Amino acid sequence: MPTLPEEPKTIVNPERGIGLKDIVSSDRSTPVKKYGQLKVVGSKILSECGKPVQLAGMSLFWHQWSGKEFWNTNALGWLRDDWKIQYIRAPIGIELEDGYLEDPKTAETIIDNAIKAAIDKGLYIIVDWHANDMHLDLARDFFGRISKEYGSYPNIIYELFNEPSGRTPKDLDETWPQLKQYSEELIATIREHDPDNLIIVPTPFWDQLVDQVAKDPITVDSKGAPVKNIAYSLHFYAREHGEELRKRADIALAKGLPIWVTQCGRVGINFSSPRFENANLPDIKSWNVWQKWMDDNSISYCKWSLGTKDETSSSLYPTANPNGYWTNTDLTPEGIWNRNHFRERYSKGWSPGCD
Ligand code: MG
Repeated sequence: MPTLPEEPKTIVNPERGIGLKDIVSSDRSTPVKKYGQLKVVGSKILSECGKPVQLAGMSLFWHQWSGKEFWNTNALGWLRDDWKIQYIRAPIGIELEDGYLEDPKTAETIIDNAIKAAIDKGLYIIVDWHANDMHLDLARDFFGRISKEYGSYPNIIYELFNEPSGRTPKDLDETWPQLKQYSEELIATIREHDPDNLIIVPTPFWDQLVDQVAKDPITVDSKGAPVKNIAYSLHFYAREHGEELRKRADIALAKGLPIWVTQCGRVGINFSSPRFENANLPDIKSWNVWQKWMDDNSISYCKWSLGTKDETSSSLYPTANPNGYWTNTDLTPEGIWNRNHFRERYSKGWSPGCD
C-alpha cells in the first residue's frame, strides 16, 4: 500500500461564501464512499451495491503543459467540494513535447501525486494513457506498475489509449483489430494485479466507431481469460458531432456495449483557435441533446478541460490558484458554466448510492 498524503486543512474562501458545513458534509460522503467498487453488467455501469450509476467529472489538461499545477490534493479537494465533481481524468501525454517518451520520471511522479490526491479525496480517477500512437511495451510497463500499486483502491479506472487517429472512418491509423489486440494485452497485464477495477478500451477514429466495436467486442484477454468490467470510450464535441455519431452509439448500446464518454465538450474541434477569435464557441442546442441522451442511457461523462490554454474549452485562466479557492474571475466562461453544471447536478441529486 502506498503512503497517502495527510489530509490538508480545509480552508474556506471568505469571498466565495461557501459554508464550512457544505464542505464538512461532503467530506463525510465522497463519491467513492457513495458508490464503492464499480462494475459493469451488460451495457450499464453499476455501483458496488448493484444500482446503475452515472458519474460526471472533469478532465485535467495534458500532464506536461499549463494546468499541470492543478494535479494536486488541494485542487482536487476544491473540485470535489465546490464544483461537486465525482471524478477526475488524468491525461498523461505520451509523444509530444515534454511527454512520457521524453521524460517518463516526471510523468510518473505527476500521475502518482494525482492518484494519491484522488484517493485522499474519495474521487474516482481515470488514469488516461493520452497517446497518439500505440506503444504497447511502454503502456504495459506503465499500467503494470499503476495496477500493482493502486489496483486495490476502488478509485482507479484505467483508460488504455486516448483517441486513435484517422482521416476518415475508413482511413484509420489504428484499426479495431489492432486496438483490440493491444487492449487484450494490457487487460491481461492489469488483471495480473487488479482483478476488478474498470478498464476503458479505445475505439477507432477518435473514439467514435463504437458501432464497429460492438460487432466484435473483447471477450477474452491475451492470456485467454474471460474479461469483465470493461467499458468502451466515446468522445464527442457538440459543435462538431450530432445525430450521426449518436446513431453509432445507439447501435452499440442496443448490442449491449458499455460506453463511457471519457472526453466531451460543448465546443467543436477547432482547438487551435484562441478565445478572442470566437471560432469554437459552445453549441448549446446540440449539447442539450447529447446531455439528454447521456442521462437517458445513464452514461458517465467527462468534460474537457481543466486547462489554462487560450482556447474556448479551457475552464481556468492562468491566474487561478494551483490549490483551488477559485473566484469567478479565475474561471473562463466555460469554467463558470462547468462549475454551475456540476453543482446543479449535485443539487438535483446524484444517482442513488450504497449509503
Ligand atoms: Mg481492484
